[in-house]
Amino acid sequence: MLTITHLAAAVLLGMLLNMNRDEWFVALTFGVAVDLDHAFAAPRYIADNGWDAILRPSWDDESGLPWKSLFHYPVGGFVVAPLAIGWRFMIPLLFWSVHVAGDYLQNWTIEQSAVVESVLLAGLSVGIVFVAYRNWLSLQPEGDFKGFMSVCRSRVGSFASGTGRAIRARLGST
Ligand SMILES: [Zn+2]
Repeated sequence: MLTITHLAAAVLLGMLLNMNRDEWFVALTFGVAVDLDHAFAAPRYIADNGWDAILRPSWDDESGLPWKSLFHYPVGGFVVAPLAIGWRFMIPLLFWSVHVAGDYLQNWTIEQSAVVESVLLAGLSVGIVFVAYRNWLSLQPEGDFKGFMSVCRSRVGSFASGTGRAIRARLGST
């Protein structure tokens, strides 16, 4: 699966679980950063298959060379499960399992993987907006979807202008 789909899945699950900052960090490490292994495999893979091959749904080029770490296989559970028990919470195991399950789903449906991936990503995005709206409604019982959208828009706007200001300050041109 594309890393963005994994990210959407982890964000939605995290929102449903109402996690705190530390839990988010652990969840994104095990649920999304697992894909960093592709970055290590990339130079060899691109050298052998060319740049366009990056967009192929599977990087298995039949060379027999590895492109995923152990963490992409159920056997990685032998490493993740003891961690989860040791830390006394199941977040690493849960988010890691969702990641591996997502990649397996893609392998089972490899012929239609572009369709499966788009439908999944769209569904997850709708889910994220829905949960965010529901959370917002519990604080603003009088609110409606229009009000929610305008709050989102102004938040994105102030984030963007804040970031712009910070960059300009860095560059010394206030
Ligand atoms: Zn993956």
